[in-house]
Formats: sequence, C-alpha cells, structure tokens
Amino acid sequence: MKGFAMKKIGETGWVEKPIPKLGPLDALVRPTAVSPCTSDVHTVWAGAIGDRHDMILGHEAVGIVEDVGELVHDFKPGDRVVVPAITPDWGSLEAQGGFAMHSGGMLAGWKFSNFKDGVFTEFFHVNDADANMAHLPDSIDDASAVMLCDMMPTGFHGAELADVEFGDSVLVIGIGPVGLMAIAGAGLKGASRIFAVGSRPKCIEIAKEYGAEQIINYKNGEISEQVLRLTEGKGVDRVIVAGGNNDTFIPAVKALKPGGVIGNVNYLGEGEFVRIPRTEWGCGMAHKQIHSGLMPGGRLRMEKLMSLIEAGRIDPSKIVTHRFCGFEKIEDALMLMKNKPADLIKPVVFIK
Ligand code: NDP
Ligand code: ZN
Repeated sequence: MKGFAMKKIGETGWVEKPIPKLGPLDALVRPTAVSPCTSDVHTVWAGAIGDRHDMILGHEAVGIVEDVGELVHDFKPGDRVVVPAITPDWGSLEAQGGFAMHSGGMLAGWKFSNFKDGVFTEFFHVNDADANMAHLPDSIDDASAVMLCDMMPTGFHGAELADVEFGDSVLVIGIGPVGLMAIAGAGLKGASRIFAVGSRPKCIEIAKEYGAEQIINYKNGEISEQVLRLTEGKGVDRVIVAGGNNDTFIPAVKALKPGGVIGNVNYLGEGEFVRIPRTEWGCGMAHKQIHSGLMPGGRLRMEKLMSLIEAGRIDPSKIVTHRFCGFEKIEDALMLMKNKPADLIKPVVFIK
C-alpha cells in the first residue's frame, strides 16, 4: 500500500509498505477522509518527538472497516467508523488508573504517526478496535466526523483541564482549530465571558461564532496586559492554552486570578524548558493551578461528542476551510497546514 510519510526530520515523501497484519482484537480501516494536523507539522519539521524514518504520517481519519480480528465483537467489514487520534491499550494499568492516553508509558496511547504508521495511507491498523473505534451515523458527514478525531476532543479537553464552571470568565490563548473547539467547549461548560487570542481573520470570525466576546491580538501588545485592561485589573477565572510557545505560561499566569486554573493542550514542539513568572504565581502560593495533557481517546468519548453534533449543540465543520479530493492531495493539504495562510483553519482530504 501507498502512504505519505516522514522520511526523516524535515523531509516528507510517498512510501510503499505492506498492508498491516491484524491481531485478534485489531481492525483494518480504509480511510474516506483525513486531515493533517499542526502536530504532524511539529513532528516533521520541529522534530518534536525525535527522528522517525519512513513513518506514515497522520492521526485524523474516518473510514470504512476493511477487516477485523477474530475477537472484535462490535464492528464488521463495511461499517463506517471514526477513529480517535489517541488509541490506548484499554487493558493497561494506566488505563485502569484513569490515564489511558499514557497506556504503556508517557504519551504511548498516541500511536498513530508516533509509535506506528499513521492514517495517511490506503489502509491503517487500529488496536483494541472495539474500544478505539465508534460507529458513525449517516447524519454526520465526513468533514464533521474527521474533526471528532482530534480537534474537538483536544479543544474540549482544554476546557476540561481548565475546570471551566458556570459563570467563569475564560481566556483562550490560540484560535487555530484546537483553540476554536476550546471556545466552543468552554461555552458548553458554562463560561460567561470568553476572551480569545489570535490574529488570523478567518479564525477570529469563527471564534466569535463559537462565543468569543473579545479578540486579543498578541501582536498588538502583551496578552495579560490586554486582558487586565478588559477586566478592570481582575483577570480571568480560567485560561485555556491552545497555541503560543514555551513562554505562553507567562501571560497565562499573569492573566489568571488567584485560585484559577490553566488548562494546556498546546504541544510544545521545541526548546528545553517552559517559564512560569514567579511573582505573579504568588511565589508559588497563589493557588494558580496548571493542568496539562494529551487528549483522551476512546469509543465512549467519541460517541458522547458525536451526540453533541447530532443534537445540534455544535457544528465542528465550521472550522473546515479547505477541501481536497483525492488521496494524492494529502501532500498539498499537509503543506498548507505547515504554511498556515491567513484564510486557513483546517483542511480535509476526501478519499473515495
Ligand atoms: P494553530 O497553529 O492553527 O493555531 C495556533 C494559534 O496560536 C493561532 O491562533 C495563533 O495565532 C496563536 N499563536 C501563535 N503564536 C502565538 C503567541 N506567541 N502567543 C499567543 N498566541 C499565539 O494550531 P492548532 O489549533 O492546530 O493546534 C494548537 C496546538 O494544539 C498545537 O500545538 C497542536 O500541536 C496542539 N495539539 C495538542 C493535542 C493534545 O492532545 N494535547 C492534540 C492536537 C493538537 P494566529 O492567528 O496569529 O495564527
Ligand atoms: Zn491532530
């Protein structure tokens, strides 16, 4: 089979590989829609997870089941499924401890385009298929469905990590696709005022549609100063970090009220340390918590997020700005994600 791969740090290309073999609990899926992710860009061009050779990229796909192992109960060839970016081993002790995304070691639930070949290929392998795939109803189209793989669960996880409660004022730093989903998630969890940080016009337009009241352009001055001005010097109850860099915890901590919570889902692609501002962190005593993590995977979560789309509570297809048709367009879509033109939020490649 053909796949689009990371050849080494800084280099991509097409590769030929054998179709993956299935164990008794596994499934083989033929993708019908895939989406490149900022994480793929960090992986290839920042070398964020170290070097990989001829590793097929991609971790966001919906598709049709091609084959299943003999112990897979709930899926059969021909079923339409969504597969989350994170596919843990659900029998692991880490999963039993509530952190399935770290099953088998730190971040090891993130298997696609990290520990094994990803989904930018003709057929991809899903471990623990009954627990890691979800049936897709006809009412959800492929463009919305592929946003269920990573963008919606990660953005919503930002709102979960920040412990957003009814009436909280929330600052969302970064309004790419993840931050936009974090705005929507914070709104669904009961946020009152939502401030959003970004600069690209298309992202700003959709941030407002998902419920951001004020847009803060980080290029026009220090973020926390702008937030403090808008909140009469008080700051916000919660911060979700979905963009920026290793220094973004500085404005996050400064803009946060004592007792507040920061939820970080940003993938820190380079550098050795992150910086926390000592005084504004109350010399360590401000009860300003920082929660940070990889999105959870799992069928149950997929089904629950799907039910929000079905109930009309959220439309994730708003973040899909670019549509490509044909398997070979994966390369163009990934390059678009790398170059981030002003009108881009998220591209999807439809494969039929
Ligand atoms: P994008 O690059 O599309 O968006 C990043 C956002 O951050 C943009 O709004 C950008 O503004 C803004 N930004 C850039 N620099 C700064 C800065 N210095 N200060 C403040 N804001 C800034 O990324 P995605 O939405 O695709 O992804 C966001 C992050 O989430 C990535 O790091 C990605 O790898 C990570 N991720 C994490 C996952 C997890 O499970 N934890 C899973 C998936 C992704 P502008 O409008 O100017 O471009
Ligand atoms: Zn992704």
